[in-house]
Amino acid sequence: MKAIVWHGKEDVRCDTVSDPEIEEPRDAIIKVTSCAICGSDLHLFHNFIPAMMPGDIMGHEMMGEVVEVGSGINGNLRKGDRIVVPFTITCGECHQCRRGNWSVCERTNRKKELAEKAFGHTTAGLFGYSHLTGGYPGGQAEYLRVPFADSTHIKVPDGMPDDQALFLGDILPTGWQAAVQCDIERTDTVAVWGCGPVGQMAIRSAVLLGAEQIIAIDRLPERLSMAEAGGAVAINFETESVIERLNELTDNRGPDKCIDATGLEAHVSLTHPDSVYDRAKQMFMLANDRAHVLREMIYVCRPVGTISIPGVYSGLADKFPIGIAMNKGLSFRMGQTHVKRWADDLSKRIEDGEIDPSFVITHTVDLDAAPEMYKVFRDKRDSCIKVVVKP
Ligand SMILES: [Zn+2]
Ligand SMILES: [Zn+2]
Repeated sequence: MKAIVWHGKEDVRCDTVSDPEIEEPRDAIIKVTSCAICGSDLHLFHNFIPAMMPGDIMGHEMMGEVVEVGSGINGNLRKGDRIVVPFTITCGECHQCRRGNWSVCERTNRKKELAEKAFGHTTAGLFGYSHLTGGYPGGQAEYLRVPFADSTHIKVPDGMPDDQALFLGDILPTGWQAAVQCDIERTDTVAVWGCGPVGQMAIRSAVLLGAEQIIAIDRLPERLSMAEAGGAVAINFETESVIERLNELTDNRGPDKCIDATGLEAHVSLTHPDSVYDRAKQMFMLANDRAHVLREMIYVCRPVGTISIPGVYSGLADKFPIGIAMNKGLSFRMGQTHVKRWADDLSKRIEDGEIDPSFVITHTVDLDAAPEMYKVFRDKRDSCIKVVVKP
């Protein structure tokens, strides 16, 4: 089959590899009908996430048709079913899965010892996402093996087109969880840093959850106009001061809730000297993560406000202002998404027409064109916001 394969830093290719096979009784194989390039794939593309190996298949946002099931699949999944595959692999039985903490499933990371060493505890196995999280082949491919498939799937409601269902596996619940974790109240101003696909979903979610004012921070006009179309007030950090504008828009109180939808690759700009410092430390491997957005959020957030972090960080961030955060009494909520916790509610909201996540798609290509699209997406060329790939 054809698949997008990681060869090294900024080198992914569409290669021919062997088809996946059932390896365990709880496996299923799907024929991938749609997959996407996620912002977190760029962190792998740039080799900021450790433990990628040449030959790894990329992709953790995918859906398709079940073509084979293992002997241990007990009837809740059949050949011909259309499913979205959550990016987190879940066993459905461990201590954390039973509590709905799906993204920290204790059993599905088959390289557990690595993760325990790095994080203190293992997190769930992830598709197409480094050997720290199991080294499972990803879904930017014609076929995908889904381990623990009886737990690791979301059934697609009849008649729901791929473009509406696909994002149920990652960016939609990720933006939603980021907003839910803000415990939004009617009088709240929610500020969202980063208007890529997850930021866009967080903005739409904050609207659905009833925030009074939503503010979107980015530098790209096409992303900011998409955010405005979703109900946000836009701040372009390249042409105006984020802190001054946020204070203006909130009577100097600062936003009540701040969402970091940028993560470890925050934009580096001469107008923010600390971002240049972060980039330099990252280049010399003296820090993993660029913390400019975190610092700015902590500084401007209303005292006793909430900081919600859906953006991916990989390790240690330098100059984290814990003193400001402590004295202001801020709360931090973060984490990889517990996809299955939100799946039923969100798929009903799509069916009811409350939200149509396909608004974010700007490009649709086939697998052969996907490697080039990594660069187009990375460089935000051609007004690219979200790429869907049809294998
Ligand atoms: Zn993702
Ligand atoms: Zn589990």
